[in-house]
Amino acid sequence: MFTSSAGGNAGVSRREALRWMGLAGAGLMVGARSASAASETDSTVTVAPLAQPAFYRFKIGAFDAIAFNDGGINPPVAQSPFGVGEPVESKVAVLREALLPVTQVNLQFNALLVRMGAEWVLFDAGCGALFGPAGGRLAAQMAAAGVKPEQINAVFLTHAHGDHFGGLFAGEEKALAFKNATHFTGRAEFDFWTGASPDVSALRQPEEGRRGMVAGARGALEALRGKWQLIAPGDRLIEGLEVIAAPGHTPGHLVFLISSGGEQVLHMADIAHHHAITFARPGWVLAFDVQPELAEATRRKLLDRAAADRLKVFGAHMPFPALGHVRALEGGRYDYVISPWSVA
Ligand SMILES: [Zn+2]
Repeated sequence: MFTSSAGGNAGVSRREALRWMGLAGAGLMVGARSASAASETDSTVTVAPLAQPAFYRFKIGAFDAIAFNDGGINPPVAQSPFGVGEPVESKVAVLREALLPVTQVNLQFNALLVRMGAEWVLFDAGCGALFGPAGGRLAAQMAAAGVKPEQINAVFLTHAHGDHFGGLFAGEEKALAFKNATHFTGRAEFDFWTGASPDVSALRQPEEGRRGMVAGARGALEALRGKWQLIAPGDRLIEGLEVIAAPGHTPGHLVFLISSGGEQVLHMADIAHHHAITFARPGWVLAFDVQPELAEATRRKLLDRAAADRLKVFGAHMPFPALGHVRALEGGRYDYVISPWSVA
């Protein structure tokens, strides 16, 4: 069980950390959950009170935006997904250099809502019930911000990992959480995971983790088969929204550039998972990258673009409210500069 859940982010026991290592991104198969998993999650997620509201309103030109924190985890450094194959001492050194705790790695889950003209557009849906009390706070955060799920017109799923799709489903019967929304995801993402035998052989996971990731992605995508609007990079869907390919973390992983009135935010989704580790060691392999080499190339390409264009970025796993900028450093490394909380 989770060792704590009352405060901010839940701590995790070794067993939970291993389960997370194995199944993160898959969580539990939609519509096919085990009884033990159901008992772990059902009593906690939908009614869990918020320890504190964690939503942040900001503007992107004329667009109103809200960043939401869905939760987060603190796996022990040795069991964290960062730097597969690297010695623990190297990971500790990076954390120490960044003046962060060196025993655990904090990894957050964030979603972004942008009101783009008449459209209420949600990017990713958080974990839902899949990560127990460590995640699934999006619904309560939205309620605290006065946003009703029925108001959401469009949901974009950046990729089919459980910490992004879990919140698309609500309640025991797995009803659609955003029933008035058109659901968008990448055609390449849908085709990969729902194909006959998705090639996850490069995934740095034990077999159980690979199987779990495939089953979870397939379950979520199949649950909405016929309802997805399948999109491709370059599609023009909403004024001010650019769909950008970001393959590697998953084959159909997408990021989004949101533009209004001369302001831009790059929603970089999962090209970076930690504001210190990923940026200081962009070549380190993440345990959940389906195509690790391609993921690194994509990461560098998009971080270079963000740095060159001085783009504000939003990150699914950056420290809440998950807004910052990217600096390119000597030696192919980067620096993530957290944007100040603005009271304006
Ligand atoms: Zn993620």
